[in-house]
Amino acid sequence: MEDCIFCKIIRKEIPSSIVYEDEEIIAFKDVNPVAPIHILVIPKRHIESVVEIKEEDELLVGKIYTVINKIAKQENIDKNGFRVIVNCGKDGGQEVKHLHFHLIGGKKLGTKICE
Ligand code: AMP
Ligand code: ZN
Repeated sequence: MEDCIFCKIIRKEIPSSIVYEDEEIIAFKDVNPVAPIHILVIPKRHIESVVEIKEEDELLVGKIYTVINKIAKQENIDKNGFRVIVNCGKDGGQEVKHLHFHLIGGKKLGTKICE
């Protein structure tokens, strides 16, 4: 069993504000939002980062984008748009070592995609 904060969220061992869940994917509100909408979309399978994605994960990773699409509609940000960010590794600023897609929106975001 993974001793990972997101795996604990998946197992409901620590609370989170879940906005979507199916057998393979869960999405919950980021505890430290950077915009009015800030949701983390993650696979339930513990994949450490983009670097650990394998061929057998291709369908799952593709499905994450379909889920992002659904949540964007559910949260009413599909028309105005949003940003999807995946941090990877030390230089990418990844703090939680469980693959996650930040879905950020609800306001006009800055034009800089990195600093
Ligand atoms: P990253 O820096 O890409 O690894 O992003 C990790 C994100 O997880 C940050 O935006 C944190 O605010 C968020 N986070 C950490 N712990 C929790 C938690 N228990 N519930 C919700 N979001 C969390
Ligand atoms: Zn995990």
